[in-house]
Amino acid sequence: MSVLAIRVLGDPVLREETRPVAEVTDDLRRLIDDMFETMYAANGIGLAAPQVGRRERVCVVDVEGAVYALVNPEVVQADGPKNKAEEGCLSIPDIYGDVERPSRVVVRALDRDGTPVEIAADGLLGRCFQHEIDHLHGKLFLDYLSYLKRRSALAKWEDEKDQYPGFIRILKPGKSESEHPEEEL
Ligand code: ZN
Repeated sequence: MSVLAIRVLGDPVLREETRPVAEVTDDLRRLIDDMFETMYAANGIGLAAPQVGRRERVCVVDVEGAVYALVNPEVVQADGPKNKAEEGCLSIPDIYGDVERPSRVVVRALDRDGTPVEIAADGLLGRCFQHEIDHLHGKLFLDYLSYLKRRSALAKWEDEKDQYPGFIRILKPGKSESEHPEEEL
């Protein structure tokens, strides 16, 4: 397994649509393993393929020990009261914002063996699923912020982004770099 470089805001790959996976192969499972390794090295709780520069429709999640690799995931149901909470993103380090989302979702996907699964999730897990599935369609949590809050987040990012030449964030294996690990997805 290897830790992959994380693409940060400004890399066009984060805004591209992913490609549905036609078949779950050993190559895809290798990508999934590398994505887990990368997510853990960054102390994140979720990671989507575009964040490591890939176009496969796949994401990985580990929320408080609930571990999922989701292939071609889609939200098939979203309900419950809307819930607002702070989110961060491994691709936008050190920037946070309150995002309102449905509190409960049902997600349909294939697992790492290619077996169809359906998962109902609320709380942080439900939020994480929605954040990662957004990534698979070129959407970022910043898109949900009000104009003023987005503008202030982007102004802060202007000061941060020079740390990431070429929009690439290099992680050291096994080392946490985050100040708010539990909130980065
Ligand atoms: Zn993210």
